[in-house]
Amino acid sequence: MLFTTIAGSLPKPLWLAEPEKLWAPWRLQGEALEEGKRDATILSIKLQEDAGIDIVGDGEQARVHFVHGFLANLDGIDFERKTVMGIRNNRYKAEVPTVTGPIRRKGSVHGMEARAARAHTTHKLKFTLPGPMTIVDTIADAHYGRREDLAMAFAAALNEEAHELQAIGVDVIQFDEPAFNVYMEEVPDWGIACLERAAQGLTATTAVHICYGYGIKANIDWKATLGAEWRHYEQTFPAIARSSIKQVSLECRNSRVPLDLIKLLDGKDVLAGAIDVASNAIETPEEVAATIRDVLAYVAPEKLFPCTNCGLAPMSGPVAYGKLAALAAGAALVRKELSGR
Ligand code: ZN
Repeated sequence: MLFTTIAGSLPKPLWLAEPEKLWAPWRLQGEALEEGKRDATILSIKLQEDAGIDIVGDGEQARVHFVHGFLANLDGIDFERKTVMGIRNNRYKAEVPTVTGPIRRKGSVHGMEARAARAHTTHKLKFTLPGPMTIVDTIADAHYGRREDLAMAFAAALNEEAHELQAIGVDVIQFDEPAFNVYMEEVPDWGIACLERAAQGLTATTAVHICYGYGIKANIDWKATLGAEWRHYEQTFPAIARSSIKQVSLECRNSRVPLDLIKLLDGKDVLAGAIDVASNAIETPEEVAATIRDVLAYVAPEKLFPCTNCGLAPMSGPVAYGKLAALAAGAALVRKELSGR
């Protein structure tokens, strides 16, 4: 019980990309880049194991960004046709590629690093993919017209990729849906249906990560406007609870999400964020344990997976892996208490 895991991204090594920066360009090219991505994935897996993480992830070492990494091997997208658009309901602007034709998966997107990760760990392996609604919110559309139609097309491509990852031996497939916190009415309307389409037929454990974003300035400023209690999940959790997705990842450390909202997720595994991604201060094991104990008031220990609030990509390597060690140590403290009961 209390198996630890990560939400998704981790910092890349200095030789692969500039540190402490989102969307950092690669420092290698061609074959060297492919080898570098593979080596970074294996290194990340080993560092997670050394930190004591139970369910390790690929750390998103082989993608520049968690959304656009998946788009790289799809037909129907013109990467030269850049459109500036406000994303997450205009929280920030980004220059994004444009959909100009039917979305089709040309071939494997993440197979290389999934195989490398699988070959080098005996731990359970988790892999993250962007959710359909979040992809649609991070790309311009000049072909489909309706957001839900575009999302369903991406969901079909995601489903093909997820089945490949499962065949490689990935144990947990998580879809990242930060957009679920922004377009509250569209989530029950079509967001969940697209998410379930992406997960259709999988026997691997399925998860969804909804969140209030990386610890970057635009998100920190936005959170400051949300008031004393963040109650967005009150609208989305009941719809997620009714879905076929097995696990839900949310932030609990230094967040203003009222923890009793977790009751709305009855029956799901809860990946409880006990690591703050907006602060470089490394949590103490005792602080991690305190967060886990708070969440235990609402979730049975066998359904609780201590996790990070979000991805750690924008941090330095020593801070990020220091936080993972604290996560494992804090979970061990609580595990000891529970087994002594
Ligand atoms: Zn997140």
